[in-house]
Amino acid sequence: MGPIRDKPKKVATNGATSNGRFDTRDEVDISAHSGASVGGVEVSADELATHWENVSAIMRAEIGEAPYQSWLRPMSMRGIDGGVLTIAVPTRFMRDWAAAHYQDRLTELWGVENDSVKSIMMVVRSAPPFGDTTDIRQKREAADIVQRRRERGNDLSAPLDGRFTFEQFVVGKPNEFAYAAARRVAEADSVPFNPLFLYGGVGLGKTHLMHAIAWHISQSQPERNVIYLSAEKFMYRFIQALREQNTVDFKSQFRSVDVLMIDDVQFIAGKDSTQEEFFHTFNALVDQGRQIVISADKSPSYLEGMEERLVSRLNCGLVADIHATTYELRLGILQSKAHKLGVEVSVKVLEFLAHKITANVRELEGALNRVVAHAQLVGRDISLETTQDVLRDLLRANDRRVTIEEIQKQVASHFNVRISDMHSARRARSVARPRQVAMYLAKQLTSRSLPEIGRKFGGRDHTTVMHAVRKVEELREHDTGFNEDVELLRRMLEG
Ligand code: ADP
Ligand code: MG
Repeated sequence: MGPIRDKPKKVATNGATSNGRFDTRDEVDISAHSGASVGGVEVSADELATHWENVSAIMRAEIGEAPYQSWLRPMSMRGIDGGVLTIAVPTRFMRDWAAAHYQDRLTELWGVENDSVKSIMMVVRSAPPFGDTTDIRQKREAADIVQRRRERGNDLSAPLDGRFTFEQFVVGKPNEFAYAAARRVAEADSVPFNPLFLYGGVGLGKTHLMHAIAWHISQSQPERNVIYLSAEKFMYRFIQALREQNTVDFKSQFRSVDVLMIDDVQFIAGKDSTQEEFFHTFNALVDQGRQIVISADKSPSYLEGMEERLVSRLNCGLVADIHATTYELRLGILQSKAHKLGVEVSVKVLEFLAHKITANVRELEGALNRVVAHAQLVGRDISLETTQDVLRDLLRANDRRVTIEEIQKQVASHFNVRISDMHSARRARSVARPRQVAMYLAKQLTSRSLPEIGRKFGGRDHTTVMHAVRKVEELREHDTGFNEDVELLRRMLEG
């Protein structure tokens, strides 16, 4: 990054060169340089945003909602300089498309709105620092929030990731409950349940939801003091306070919080003195009617090395789990991310990725980013072949995944039944249930079709497999113990 910054930045549109004033900045910092000169006159970010609202409202009416959402909404107005309005878009592909289709009309409308605008230059934002579809105003709001939090001396809190908002969270069956619970906490002005305990495997969106709560509250109720930090950070601070004999300050800092969010609380399991302090902070806050949100990789009762009384307090509020992703959710997430990247990726490629990259959302997102980055680098479209090529190592790792035989073996030993019961015709619940779990896991963890799975289970029909999958899904939703069993098996098998 360093050396690139020093050089004057060249912009490839119209052969023009920008002065580097707008496009090298971090957009979250927009409040720090809200003025842009128009022949010596300043145009504030607010004016710019207002003009853009007017122009884009007309465009929206002209081109329709879907194209507007795809092409215009992601644009951000950087500033007017020497009669040239600079517009930033997330990707090169988007710039080319928007320039070809909308540049003339935009220039015309802008000229009417603000007669100092003579032409438009579209540039590609290097790395979108704060979501792709957020416009200048939202970014400003985010900057204000950051500023307010800083002024308040709220340096206890870890920084929030601008991409982790509710708007950017794709909701599907595996996460709808956790999402609804998070939204409820964010939108309520009192405490609906305490604590909200979110749990699930890695990369499934726990941190995303917590940040989303923090963003939402900071925006809609700025007077509430929201603190987000990892359990690790919490422990670190506590130890530091102990060392500096400053625990009184530490306590009062935390106890003046309105909403306390601690991420990955499994980290303090077994760490006695930190747990003790956490417990007291927790109690003090709950007694004062403050909101607490906690995340972990397991449900409270399954956290090892947690004190009994802490576990029971954690269980007192609302416990919401995020399940492993389903194919539908993965596809939805890919579509949403591709849209936000401003690239067109064929349905075939998205379906391929949703089928193959099943571990978690983080890996899925990483795979898509790699494919898109590669295509942009070599300037070619994204095809199935290039996707397979670019992701060769990742796909191989995913292919080496479990076989149905391994699943049957593991499930049988977990439930204490014979492997032969996986194939047998016995219908007693004691063997039928484990068999259904194995079928369910076979569907989740392998790319086998329902008939193929049925064959491996003593030549059963595909409808039997389908029934098993549904049954297990239903049980997982209503029976926490059962759900944990299945989750545990899944993790062991994925190793
Ligand atoms: P966790 O904290 O559970 O390990 P994260 O919240 O860090 O997982 O999520 C990992 C990545 O996946 C993040 O980039 C996040 O934005 C993304 N992600 C997870 N779930 C979703 C979702 N439902 N919609 C959109 N992005 C998601
Ligand atoms: Mg996390």
